[in-house]
Amino acid sequence: MSDQRVAFVTGASRGIGRAVAERLANDGRHVVLCSRSAAPLNDLAGTIEANGGAASVCACDVGDRDALSGAIEGVIKERGRLDILVNNAGITRDGLALRMSDDDWDEVIRVNLTSAFAAIRAAARPMMKQRFGRIVNVASTSGLVGNAGQANYAAAKAGLVGLTKTIARELGGKGITCNTVAPGFIQTDMTKDLPESVTAQVLSTMAVNRLGDPADIAAAIAYVTSDEAGFLTGQTIAVDGGLTMC
Ligand code: NAP
Repeated sequence: MSDQRVAFVTGASRGIGRAVAERLANDGRHVVLCSRSAAPLNDLAGTIEANGGAASVCACDVGDRDALSGAIEGVIKERGRLDILVNNAGITRDGLALRMSDDDWDEVIRVNLTSAFAAIRAAARPMMKQRFGRIVNVASTSGLVGNAGQANYAAAKAGLVGLTKTIARELGGKGITCNTVAPGFIQTDMTKDLPESVTAQVLSTMAVNRLGDPADIAAAIAYVTSDEAGFLTGQTIAVDGGLTMC
C-alpha cells in the first residue's frame, strides 16, 4: 500500500471543489475527484497529472446516499486507504420560506447535508483503523447568520456545523478531526448570476475589499486537512473576508 495520503473531494468538477482538488494534489495527495458527470473530472485529472500530481475519477450523485457510500467504499478497496474527506458538493434552490416547495427543501437538504452524513459514515471506519483522518464539511456564512431566501440552504449549512461538532467529539479519540469551513462570497458559477446590486451590498459589509477566490477556500482546507492540524477539531472557520466575524 502506498503511503501517499488519499483525499476524496466532492463537487470537484468546478469552483471551490476544483480549486481544493488542485491544491491538495499540489500538496502531494492522491485526489479522488467526485461530482455527477465524468467528463469534467477526466479533464481535471488530466490537468493534475500534467502538473505532476495524482488523481482518479469517481462520478457519483452525492444526493444518492447508497451510490455515495458505495463510491467511497470502492476507493478504499482500490487504494487501500482514505485519509481526507472534503464534503464540498452543494446546490442552492432559493426562494422565500413561505413560497418554497417541499421538493426544493428536500433536495437542498439531501445534497448539502445528508450527503455529508453518508460520506462520513462510509469513510469513518477505515479512518479509525488507520487512526488518522481529516474531515472537512464546506458550509456557508448563510448557515451562520441566515440569509433571506435561503431557508433550505442555511438550514443545511447550519446542520453541517452541528454534524461537524458531533463527529469531532465521537471520533476525536481515534485520530480523526472534523471541521467546517464556511466560505463567504466566492466567485464561482454559484454566484455568477447574482445581480450587481447584491454583490455591491455584500462587498460594502466586508472588511477585505474584494470578493473571494476559490483558492482562498482551498488554502484553508489544505491546512485543516494537513498532518500538522491534528489539534484543530470541531471548529467552524469562516473564510469570508471579514463578512461575518461571528
Ligand atoms: P459550484 O461552482 O456551483 O459547484 C458545485 C459543485 O458541486 C460542482 O462540482 C457540481 O458538479 C457539484 N454537485 C452539485 N450537485 C451535486 C450532486 N448531486 N452530486 C455530486 N456533485 C454535485 O459551487 P461552488 O461555489 O464551488 O460551491 C462549493 C461549495 O461551497 C458548496 O457546498 C457551496 O454551498 C459552498 N459555498 C459556496 C459559496 C460561494 O460564494 N460560491 C459561498 C458559501 C458556500 P456537477 O454539477 O458536475 O455534479
